[in-house]
Amino acid sequence: MQGGATGLAFRGRTASIGFAHGPFVRVDAGTSGERVAGSLVEEALALRGAIDVASGQIAELAAIAGGEAAQILEFQVALLEDEDFIEAIFASIGEGKAADVAWRSALDTQIADYNSAEDEYLKARSSDLADLRDRVINVLRGGEGQTPRIPSGAVVCADDLPPSRFLEIDWSGGGGLALLRGSPTSHVAMLARARGIPMVVQLGAIPGVGATALLDGESATLELDPGAEQVRVFEKRRESHRKSRASARAILRRPTASWRGERIKLFINIQRVDDLEHADAQYADGIGLMRTEFLLTSGLPDEETQFQAYDAVLRWADRRPVTIRTFDAGGDKPVPGFTMDGEANPFLGVRGLRLCLARPDIFTVQLRALARAAVRGNLKVMFPMVTSADELEAGRKLFAEIVQRLQADGIAAMLPELGIMVEVPAAALAIASFKASFFSIGSNDLAQYALACDRSNGALAPLMDPLHPALLELIARTAEHGRRAGISVSLCGDMASDPRFIPALLNCGLRELSVNASALAQIKQTIDRLSSGGGLG
Ligand code: PEP
Ligand code: MG
Repeated sequence: MQGGATGLAFRGRTASIGFAHGPFVRVDAGTSGERVAGSLVEEALALRGAIDVASGQIAELAAIAGGEAAQILEFQVALLEDEDFIEAIFASIGEGKAADVAWRSALDTQIADYNSAEDEYLKARSSDLADLRDRVINVLRGGEGQTPRIPSGAVVCADDLPPSRFLEIDWSGGGGLALLRGSPTSHVAMLARARGIPMVVQLGAIPGVGATALLDGESATLELDPGAEQVRVFEKRRESHRKSRASARAILRRPTASWRGERIKLFINIQRVDDLEHADAQYADGIGLMRTEFLLTSGLPDEETQFQAYDAVLRWADRRPVTIRTFDAGGDKPVPGFTMDGEANPFLGVRGLRLCLARPDIFTVQLRALARAAVRGNLKVMFPMVTSADELEAGRKLFAEIVQRLQADGIAAMLPELGIMVEVPAAALAIASFKASFFSIGSNDLAQYALACDRSNGALAPLMDPLHPALLELIARTAEHGRRAGISVSLCGDMASDPRFIPALLNCGLRELSVNASALAQIKQTIDRLSSGGGLG
């Protein structure tokens, strides 16, 4: 986009939709000021003290933020508690390096490692490390390590922003986030979406000037020092967005969505029990996908911890169905101590059910918790990343043995309905070979494998077309098999949360969709409009 007499305009990628009009505030990371190094002992003590201050700040933020935000900050805390990492830095102080120099060089090496990773998820973690680096150095240089106060409602612009900085900003008066780099899959993007803060990433170079800004998270644009006409057009777009959200939410209260006279069931996807707090979740027909690997963010939870989490979801759902997916670790979701290190191609590696079958020590704990939870509500369990019918049968056999053992020990347990994710093209093509009670199509992975596009590689976005005929063919075949065999088929990948793809999914024969809670209203409204003969609106 070009700049003009009325101001400068830039286009990036959407990370979170919404609109912000406010003061433009540039928060460039980095530290200033020099410090004079002391003796070896003084330097070691100074670093220890600065690390403690930084840990305290992060712990305080985590306590205030809670939920998912707290989990994200644990990544930083874990690094500060990594003795091997920290000891190596103290060793270089012992060899004569100043505390800030030793700390910066160790962190810079880590940051460079994360930045060179092919995986966008790992790349996105580098801004968390840069935040840690700057926090500790700020303290060493006599600062408090806190960011300057940002006025309420500001459009905050940074090169990239770590979650801890995001959480320090007071978003209660609105505002938005404009990043020159950044990624829609970063943790800070997840936080922005969860809090409804508009966010645009990959804006490129922006001059550090500007008094006010318009940030449009829908068209992914940033306008600096806009003229009256730009503001008028922006406010019009913002108002129409607000109205369409309000009317979508009104539709939520209606009993069911239907299309061509057939009921469309709308479930929600959750990562963690906290996600059920989303105001719209209560209107869902149940849980279509609980991604249990998010329970693994702070180590491997024991049977009781897992049972409590599954039981809480079942209690919330009352008698509505709850589909819990067994751990889908690996690929873009590495879990230390569980997933395989050093795989050349983790997306084609030992992930999902393959990994669980290879690690019965970990899988057994989860299956025991699930078997106990099954007696408490309407539970369905599904296995991810299934390629062959033998894998499903091996999982079923292990599960059945576990149920028998629990029952023999007098513990209430049962085998729930067992289904599989259809996310490997081979499974979609050989769908009739699976003796599953239900199927759930994982379009994120099905697309990546069918189209040969790494789902985390932003450069392939134009090729990663959910409407590619090959992908629609795989979805339609699976839906058709379900219809003929009387087996329920849903789709729980991100396609279902995007109104643009709903007509194609319904035309493929799907009648069950599982969406993000924040998209439930819009998807219900989309189906409503389609069934009343309207377009997508
Ligand atoms: C999918 O692959 O579409 C899916 C729902 O699973 P995940 O995104 O967790 O891999
Ligand atoms: Mg998947």
